[in-house]
Amino acid sequence: MKYCMECGTKLEERFLKNEGMVPYCKTCEAYRFPVFSTAVSMEVLSPGRDKILLIKQYGKDRYILVAGYVNKGENAEDTVVREVKEELGLTVTDLHFEKSEYFAPSNTLMLNFSCVVDSESLSHISEEEIDSCRWFTLEEAAENIAEGSLAGIFLTRFISKQKSV
Ligand SMILES: [Zn+2]
Repeated sequence: MKYCMECGTKLEERFLKNEGMVPYCKTCEAYRFPVFSTAVSMEVLSPGRDKILLIKQYGKDRYILVAGYVNKGENAEDTVVREVKEELGLTVTDLHFEKSEYFAPSNTLMLNFSCVVDSESLSHISEEEIDSCRWFTLEEAAENIAEGSLAGIFLTRFISKQKSV
């Protein structure tokens, strides 16, 4: 971020106690902390919690987790419920925060949740947003998730946590 998002003045670095060097706008007399996006991704679990839904998206032939950006003014839990409804047509009955990771390529803080849905029905999938999707057992999901992806890191962590319970 080189310019103030309010007035367009070129930002300069200024020291802020307990924070270090932070971009500062002389015109607004305000510190401008770096801006990033926030998104959620989900291990979507079947009602029996024994299967995970993976999706293919954006024309790519690899399975990933359901995900979406958090809207301004929305809390992350509501984003999980909204995205599952919009993309899958399913209702979330339970959800838990799992782990967060900063994803530099899209300047996004990814919040990973696990959530349980009310049905295994895939008849209300959004064809605009999802190319294809399938329910997998936990073991199958670990084998089929896109290798080296952030989704894969979240899923692997989630599955190993289930095994240790
Ligand atoms: Zn300004």
